[in-house]
Amino acid sequence: MSKAYNPQEFEDKIYEKWEKSGFFNPDNLEKAGDRFWNAEPFSIAMPPPNVTAELHLGSALFITLQDIMTRHARMRGRKALWLPGTDHAAIATQNVVERKILEEEKKTRTDLGREQLLRRIEEFVSHTQGRIQNQIRKMGSSCDWTREKFTLSPELSLAVRTAFKKMHDAGLIYRGERMVNWCPRCGSTLADDEVSFKQAKGHMFYLRYPVKDSEDYLVVATNRPETMLGDTGVAVNPGDSRYKKYVGKIIMLPLLNREVPVIADDHIDKAFGTGAMKVTPGHDHNDFEIAKRHGLEMIHLYTADGKIDAQEAADHGFDDYAGLTKEDALNRIVQELHEKEFIEKTEEIEHRVGTCYRCGTVVEPVVSKQWFVNVNAEFKIENKEFSKNLRLPEKTTLKEMMTAAVKSGAIKIVPKHFEKIYFEWMKNLRDWTISRQIWYGHRIPVWYCPDCTETIVAVEPPASCTKCQGANLKQDEDTLDTWFSSGLWTFSTLGWPQETSDLKTYHPTVVLETAYDILFFWVARMVLMTGFLLNDIPFKTVYLHGLVRDIEGKKMSKSSGNRIDPLDIQAKYGTDALRLSLVLGNTPGNDMKFSEIKVEAGRNFVNKLWNISRFILSTPPLKVRGGGGGLSTLADHWILDRLDETVAAVNRHFENSQYGQAAEELQRFTWDDLADWYLEIAKIEGNKKEVLDVLLVNILKLWHPFIPFVTEHIWSQMAKSLLMVDDYPHVPEKIEKFAARPLFEAMRELVTGLRNLRAEYRLGSTPIYSSYLEIPKDLEWIKDHTPVIEKLTRTKLNFAVMDHAHKMPYFLWEGVRIYLVIPNFDSKKEAALTEKQLKEAESYVKKISTQVKNKGFLKKAPKEIVEKMQADLSAAETKVKTLKAKVKQLK
Ligand SMILES: [Zn+2]
Ligand SMILES: [Zn+2]
Repeated sequence: MSKAYNPQEFEDKIYEKWEKSGFFNPDNLEKAGDRFWNAEPFSIAMPPPNVTAELHLGSALFITLQDIMTRHARMRGRKALWLPGTDHAAIATQNVVERKILEEEKKTRTDLGREQLLRRIEEFVSHTQGRIQNQIRKMGSSCDWTREKFTLSPELSLAVRTAFKKMHDAGLIYRGERMVNWCPRCGSTLADDEVSFKQAKGHMFYLRYPVKDSEDYLVVATNRPETMLGDTGVAVNPGDSRYKKYVGKIIMLPLLNREVPVIADDHIDKAFGTGAMKVTPGHDHNDFEIAKRHGLEMIHLYTADGKIDAQEAADHGFDDYAGLTKEDALNRIVQELHEKEFIEKTEEIEHRVGTCYRCGTVVEPVVSKQWFVNVNAEFKIENKEFSKNLRLPEKTTLKEMMTAAVKSGAIKIVPKHFEKIYFEWMKNLRDWTISRQIWYGHRIPVWYCPDCTETIVAVEPPASCTKCQGANLKQDEDTLDTWFSSGLWTFSTLGWPQETSDLKTYHPTVVLETAYDILFFWVARMVLMTGFLLNDIPFKTVYLHGLVRDIEGKKMSKSSGNRIDPLDIQAKYGTDALRLSLVLGNTPGNDMKFSEIKVEAGRNFVNKLWNISRFILSTPPLKVRGGGGGLSTLADHWILDRLDETVAAVNRHFENSQYGQAAEELQRFTWDDLADWYLEIAKIEGNKKEVLDVLLVNILKLWHPFIPFVTEHIWSQMAKSLLMVDDYPHVPEKIEKFAARPLFEAMRELVTGLRNLRAEYRLGSTPIYSSYLEIPKDLEWIKDHTPVIEKLTRTKLNFAVMDHAHKMPYFLWEGVRIYLVIPNFDSKKEAALTEKQLKEAESYVKKISTQVKNKGFLKKAPKEIVEKMQADLSAAETKVKTLKAKVKQLK
């Protein structure tokens, strides 16, 4: 083993060794030992990263956590499968490529055409996919690359088409006219949860709508005047006396030569605006409902690429505006309304607008023909066991089933409080719009026959129309929402719709580990798909991790310039240090603050482990067997006792999904107990090879899931086999508390006390001082440990009575005074110094306590500041007490 820890020297080689061994693939594990025969399977489907970009720290976190789970399960003798893959991320990927082409070549997607654009996207994807795979490898992931999947591959495409067909046949997928959110920039529909809302400034226009054949007019208020092109009515409340006489009259729309009726509808709020509302059923959720109730016509203003539709314009008398974008139409219409005095007044307003979560463009509500998943339609659950487990009747709906999967306890969410959020979403669940007007993705498996208007849903493209045998079938132009395919991820990756042995062995998966922000987008959709298609749950536990933020708690992003590239960190500190910094202090569901200082601390620890191992590996074997070797001293018993405790604690934390706590427990043991105490004592007592070897083997195993590279490398110095398939330390059946353990703890207190005293009187570490121990009979055992204590404290122990006249400093140990003899000690000078310190401490306590008691301050100050001050106060109070005692002692 080289002297310095240099991860760059071995990390890549170790990964190669693992990959070559074949043990990432659970089928090969039986070769690693008997304990894998008939072993219990364990599986995780890796959340497929989007092919749009390189991995970030959030990805590094999920990879680390899932690798810890997988490696732990494998070492516990389970057939561990961690299945990797990537997601085509339809709309996001198409956006990235479209923007790039627009920037570099000034061409739009319509300039390129469907085929050209798809080819360009595939080129882009083949490039990014390779980069992502490398980054996953670089993190040390023990995933099975032989089973790697891509959401847009032919096998997964078959799964998607099969799923669509089955759901359609069961009446759970339908096509309908719906008001949907539409992004004019992306030219695509967005699901409700893909719209993000923000406050924006705008104008409310009060428009004069003339009553036909009169000088009279009604005033309607709108913040989207351009939509007047699509007006098909004006609505008032039937109980509104101001407008009673107008109901049934005809309005001539300004600028257009079109007549629309005035109707009365209970849903109109008399107090809103002027109480008279323009009705635009094609572009407003409420108006859509009103139009349905009153049989008003619906006008679609825009074409798929966001321009005023020429056909609709010709049909409804607004030819002049055909071909304009929404922006241009708005500007022109406002100008014309002004010129012709149709605007009574305008007001500045602040309102909530929905924007596209991908590109930030304001979304437009539009009515269009879309495909939907019906979450409220009944279907029959074929598998009785499944419905029984979920406590569901035989007939249920997707919404009920998704709720029941978590409510029944079949799926557990960690941390638990996210279950409430999940139920809240389920309550508000609406039909899921699954069609998207983009080209990159799974094309909807539906064909239309222009000859007889038949609609055919099929897994494979039909050669001719099933009704009229016509051969002019046209496939639906739209593609499926990307979550439709990722919803199948846990089982499409295992070979479904074929009944493969992988599917039988590894499904349902054990854990789904993902970020909490896609609980609904992804997790819920997986529950939906698996529940209906397989009559099963996709996973037993959902483990949610928080987001990785910068040190100030801000979200990391390219635009704010606070993004940290994991590859840079890995090059500087090594992968193990990065992994450790991500897992230490990490708790499920909570965001974490990340900084390079944490990685540095991680690297320092790994370095410590390196040095511990080097020391143990270079310790010579026992000189005389049975003569002084084995378990002979207090320290030996104590450290093995602590090892048992640590193994038990680590395994318990694994069971509770507390990986951060497991690592902390291990770090305490390795650094505090082993390195700082036991190894120091071992150097003094000597002849410890046996115990040291036991300790080394165990800490390497215990640490392996967290920091796999360095542990495997050290392991290779002492064994030919691979650590990754060795067995994880088992919890001892009964932890036998070593009877003399309190003695070791007492000895440790004595050493700490003497060391503290030395530090308190600024004595440095080299010179040896005398100490006096006035020991009663029952503490005489401590004499047996004199050499160890003397070396650890650089003190000469005198078991005799100290002359009290000397006023030497002392501390209390087990109720006995332990004196430290300091040559030329001036107790008066020391007392004066201490009194000065005491005064300072007292005035500090006074200052803080008045502030902490000040009600005005308590009200205004942030909670963290108040808490910190309270902690400071109690620390300062303790200090005052200690200094008082010291003064008393010195006088
Ligand atoms: Zn958009
Ligand atoms: Zn036909």
